[in-house]
Amino acid sequence: MADLEFFGHIVDNEEVESIDGTRFDVWNPWKREVWAQAAEGGEKDADRAITSARKAFDEGPWPRMGRVERAKMIHKLADLMEARADEIATLDSTNMAKPFEQAKHDVARSVWNFRFFADHQRDSVGEVYPMDSGHHSYSEFGPAGVVAAISPWNFPLMMASWKIAPAIAWGNTCIIKPSEDTPASVTYLGGLAAEAGFPPGVLNVLNGYGHPAGSTITGDDRVDRVTFTGSSTTGKAVMASAATHLAPVSLELGGKGANIVFADADMDNAVYWAVEAIFRNAGQICLAGSRLFVQDAIYDEFMKRFVDAAEALTIGDPFDPATKFSSLASKRHFDKVVSYVEGARDLGGTFHTGGIAEDGSWVVKPTIIDGLALDAAPYCEEIFGPVCVVNRFETEEEAVHLANDTRYGLNAMLFTENLSRAHRVASKLRAGTVWVNCFFIRDLRTPFGGVGDSGVGREGGNFSREFFTEPKAVVMQI
Ligand code: NAD
Repeated sequence: MADLEFFGHIVDNEEVESIDGTRFDVWNPWKREVWAQAAEGGEKDADRAITSARKAFDEGPWPRMGRVERAKMIHKLADLMEARADEIATLDSTNMAKPFEQAKHDVARSVWNFRFFADHQRDSVGEVYPMDSGHHSYSEFGPAGVVAAISPWNFPLMMASWKIAPAIAWGNTCIIKPSEDTPASVTYLGGLAAEAGFPPGVLNVLNGYGHPAGSTITGDDRVDRVTFTGSSTTGKAVMASAATHLAPVSLELGGKGANIVFADADMDNAVYWAVEAIFRNAGQICLAGSRLFVQDAIYDEFMKRFVDAAEALTIGDPFDPATKFSSLASKRHFDKVVSYVEGARDLGGTFHTGGIAEDGSWVVKPTIIDGLALDAAPYCEEIFGPVCVVNRFETEEEAVHLANDTRYGLNAMLFTENLSRAHRVASKLRAGTVWVNCFFIRDLRTPFGGVGDSGVGREGGNFSREFFTEPKAVVMQI
């Protein structure tokens, strides 16, 4: 075991073992071998992390620091991340078989998350309400307290940064519990925060499983906000746990994104984004365009080009620069995706390309299926893998109906060159984000979140400010 990497908890800026010394194995899914161990947080470890974050909030300099100074420290962390981008990307690529170039892209976006929220809180203004009664009122946005953040494994660093950055920028202290599948990059980030000079307790990392590590921090009444990204099922448990002490929750959950291609779309552009939307990160994206709807008139031509583009993706080692697509992130997840692929065959789906790799790897090839019934599990449920289920439609109304006919509502895409149709359909889609003629582009000022089973609340810009602060009204007689 001596040559394995180790990822401890980060508490008070120190990397530490679990109190009882327990560890768990961390896998390299491309090589199908254990490459590291991580500290397995129990209730006592969770308590230690909360105590540290609480003290840092109640007594430490972070919430009391000037906005400019806090922004400077967060930029310093971002500088360090930029300087170590290759190292961090290597951790995510090793830990979940993300192609290295995609991992580097994620690091760049994570850096931007920190820079954006640092500046956003620095430059943010309150509101003043002149009153006819001879008073005036104004609003203030003070930090909320201790934030418990829980993140998934599909974008190990990026999802965590999307929670940590606004939480700490607004003067809160934070405990992040990364997924047990991918502890590496977030633990590394905790070390960088210490190196950047963050006061102890501002950013604690608690490694371990959903239970007891995650559930202990969500259920503790010393925690003031719970922000969670993960599956809809876990989201419900997290919400129930936070409700025991009335902590507000922000939940970013699963998806089954609709991607609608109208006959008047720019075909090259639509094919390019259809491939990105379902095969980037091996389809392990909450925003994946996993339900593709193509208008009748272009169906056959589109399918041919989509299949060709999917088959052109180079599958291989995440560190090979030619690789665009690699294995799934864990054996457990591989088994789940395989069961949907086999289910689709049993249900009579027509496979245009893809299927399970036969070399013993945890690769499911880019898979494109049509001919499934609208109540088939692979069509209705989140597979979270490189499996695209395609249907045809005739009219705009039909496309909107099909797209909205799901319990999820995280995002949707539509491709058309008709400006009026673009606005009309975007407005009718039941989704937190609609991309027109593109995918995955974010402006951090805009709301991000889901409808229905895809989430509760919105984050981004002022939406994050509302969640991570306690807005206060001050009324003054003048
Ligand atoms: P998951 O729900 O299994 O786990 C997510 C996190 O929750 C992990 O850190 C896990 O340890 C923790 N957890 C599990 N049980 C818990 C409990 N009882 N209390 C507290 N924490 C607990 O999800 P996953 O498999 O890691 O991630 C995939 C899911 O995440 C997919 O459904 C995907 O769509 C979703 N996701 C959503 C977004 C979004 O922005 N909406 C982004 C990325 C991923």
